[in-house]
Amino acid sequence: MVQTLRSSSFLVVGAGLAGTCAAWRLAQRGHEVTLLERTRPAAPDGSSHGSARILRFAYPEREYAALVVRALDGWRELEAASDTELLTAAPALDHGPGRDPRALARVLEDVGVEHELLSAAAAEERWPQVAADGEVLLQPGGAVLDAELTVHAAVARAQAHGAQLLTGWPLASLERSGHGAAARFTARSQDGREVRAARVVVAVGGWLPDVLTRLDLPRRLLAGMPRLTVTEETAVHFPYREEHAHAPWPTVIHQRPGTLPVYALPGGRDAGHRGLKVAQHAAGPRVASAARASGVVDGAAVERLVAHVRVHLPGVVPEPYAQTTCLYTSTPTEDFVVDGADGVTVVSACSGHGGKFAPLLGELAADAATGDAVVPERFRVS
Ligand SMILES: Cc1cc2nc3c(=O)[nH]c(=O)nc-3n(C[C@H](O)[C@H](O)[C@H](O)COP(=O)(O)OP(=O)(O)OC[C@H]3O[C@@H](n4cnc5c(N)ncnc54)[C@H](O)[C@@H]3O)c2cc1C
Repeated sequence: MVQTLRSSSFLVVGAGLAGTCAAWRLAQRGHEVTLLERTRPAAPDGSSHGSARILRFAYPEREYAALVVRALDGWRELEAASDTELLTAAPALDHGPGRDPRALARVLEDVGVEHELLSAAAAEERWPQVAADGEVLLQPGGAVLDAELTVHAAVARAQAHGAQLLTGWPLASLERSGHGAAARFTARSQDGREVRAARVVVAVGGWLPDVLTRLDLPRRLLAGMPRLTVTEETAVHFPYREEHAHAPWPTVIHQRPGTLPVYALPGGRDAGHRGLKVAQHAAGPRVASAARASGVVDGAAVERLVAHVRVHLPGVVPEPYAQTTCLYTSTPTEDFVVDGADGVTVVSACSGHGGKFAPLLGELAADAATGDAVVPERFRVS
């Protein structure tokens, strides 16, 4: 079977948060778009499955904090267009001497994000379910985003603007003919299906290390790509203690000096809304690519998280009731990649913090793919 698209078309590969939002933004701008997905949108072995991710503003870098503010417009737009609530309000807390709440507060002050520095006693009075480790930074505008609902909302909006979604379609090769404006691409699956397009956006998450080597990508793009590390992260759900089960839970990031941050957030739909999801940032074992991931929960990580909640999160019972794995695809600086050359744009938007930017990353991917606007310097590699 051969499916031929018009030569003005865009092919987006990968239907996670990054690819679906890129497809939505491109279709919204009037482009003909085909979205190719190996399995199904929000693939359960990728990075965008499940219903809970943190949206917070606190970053040590001003630029990221400002980008979260910008991303919020996209969230509101997608919620309104799809008539779906994708964000649930949840104040965000940062604490622990490794997190430096005061420094983060200065950044938020600079960007104009509402925030408050609380003493440990004041924070514990408001949230007795959290054991404050020194001063606590509060961002009242934080939220929990539903990753899987967002993927489906973005697909639906892309389709409403005329995009087509092909599922069960693993891209095996991409062949280029011509260069510059004359470049044309033929995407092939292992079983001989073909899609033709004038431009391609590659948003395959943890499969990128494999896919990069298989595609005929421009040398200067490959040369500039930062090293990508895929890790298999373990997240654990702990049940709320009876007395805190109906309390409004914040999201929490805690860090001791010299350790990786531990984050916690109210678990979503997939964990029955009955407990807190807790994980350590970027602590999982490395795998060569998503294709080599085991899907097996790391027992040592579970033990570390149990020990953590015993000390820092007294509002939960330190006995896991659900566990899951999820893939991080990280760059050394944890900056995203949104860049392209010669008709191919790569979007690698994880590093464990890309979810909150999804609608904005879709916009930036569309900017990079069309040349409509310049993508921030820190996301460009070529
Ligand atoms: C445990 C965990 C916690 C996180 N917490 C947060 C958080 O609190 N806040 C936050 O902002 N962000 C968070 N993130 C990050 C956020 O979830 C990611 O930034 C986002 O999901 C990345 O999406 P993606 O589209 O790049 O990748 P994916 O969702 O993996 O999508 C890639 C898609 O490409 C498809 N694909 C692969 N190869 C091919 C091929 N050859 N042909 C066709 N399709 C292909 C896959 O099947 C998959 O569907 C977290 C991530 C994880 C794993």
